[in-house]
Amino acid sequence: MAIVLGIESSCDETAAALVSADRRIIAQRIASQDDAHAPYGGVVPEIAARAHAERLAPMIAAVLDDAGLELTDLAAIAATAGPGLIGGVMVGLVSAKALAMASDVPLIAINHLEGHALSPRLADPALDFPYALLLVSGGHCQILRVDGVGRYRRLATTIDDALGEAFDKTAKILGLGYPGGPAVEELAATGNPHAVPLPRPLKGSAEPHFSFAGLKSAVLRAKESGAHADADIAASFQQAAIDCVTDRLARALEQMGPVTALVVAGGVAANQVMRAALEAVAAAHGLRFTAPPPALCTDNAAMIAWAGIEHLAQTDFTPAPLDIAARPRWPLDPAAEPVRGAGYKG
Ligand code: AMP
Ligand code: MG
Repeated sequence: MAIVLGIESSCDETAAALVSADRRIIAQRIASQDDAHAPYGGVVPEIAARAHAERLAPMIAAVLDDAGLELTDLAAIAATAGPGLIGGVMVGLVSAKALAMASDVPLIAINHLEGHALSPRLADPALDFPYALLLVSGGHCQILRVDGVGRYRRLATTIDDALGEAFDKTAKILGLGYPGGPAVEELAATGNPHAVPLPRPLKGSAEPHFSFAGLKSAVLRAKESGAHADADIAASFQQAAIDCVTDRLARALEQMGPVTALVVAGGVAANQVMRAALEAVAAAHGLRFTAPPPALCTDNAAMIAWAGIEHLAQTDFTPAPLDIAARPRWPLDPAAEPVRGAGYKG
């Protein structure tokens, strides 16, 4: 049974995991850097890269130890090679190269977004291609059709902020700390989602793209007006964001052709109100709905190891060369047109 070591270091989670071809997560460790970045209200790239460098090597040793395995027992070493904060990605990729070279185990360079895109198949063996994927995280906000391993069609992306970023900025405006998503969701549960009139950017537009910058500014103005309770602002923001997502998703589903399921991945997929709204969209389109468990939704190494397993199973699999470069930007669908105003990786 093939076992792959996965390494993730593209943002602010340092993670290592061992996953087998029969979908078992044999061992995994993850260290969040939330405390290190909290004073700044967002991820500071240099701090992130240094933290990865300190933590990764002992973490890899620990997962191998937990599983009672040696490097030479592995079928491959899979590391995130982009997109992401370049310093962090380099720490993970260079570590993987060194281990691959020392143990003569194949190296697999994984696109972090592909890790998210395939992670639902780790949790759900019945999930077949093609499926619709809503990827909503701190750095990404995309709708893709996943046709197979390495075959992705991007239908939508954000022209400004990612959805998780909008949650984090709302949290910052409301003084809720970082990372903000869970705190906004908690506060929103006590507020009135219709109390504060907020815009739904791009709602109803023909292309299924996203925009959240205007919503964020409106949240700031609502807070500064002093006219609203924070809980009402949080609830109204969350409602506006969800309205945008469901509208954009419905539009993308009309354009993508037949799929077997609607899948949501990325950190924002942990939001229960969002999940309920997405389930309703799936039901309205006659689609099965599936989301990986929250621990597989946020950045993690099991999804990177699993993407490695999926690549190993391809008939045309070839290991990555040891001089492969880390990529700060790496779109999953290279044919997708850049979107006006787009400032995002992928
Ligand atoms: P990731 O980039 O995949 O690691 O996910 C982190 C992002 O997900 C951050 O922007 C978080 O604020 C966001 N997030 C996590 N949990 C929630 C939640 N319950 N509701 C909304 N956003 C969330
Ligand atoms: Mg993260």
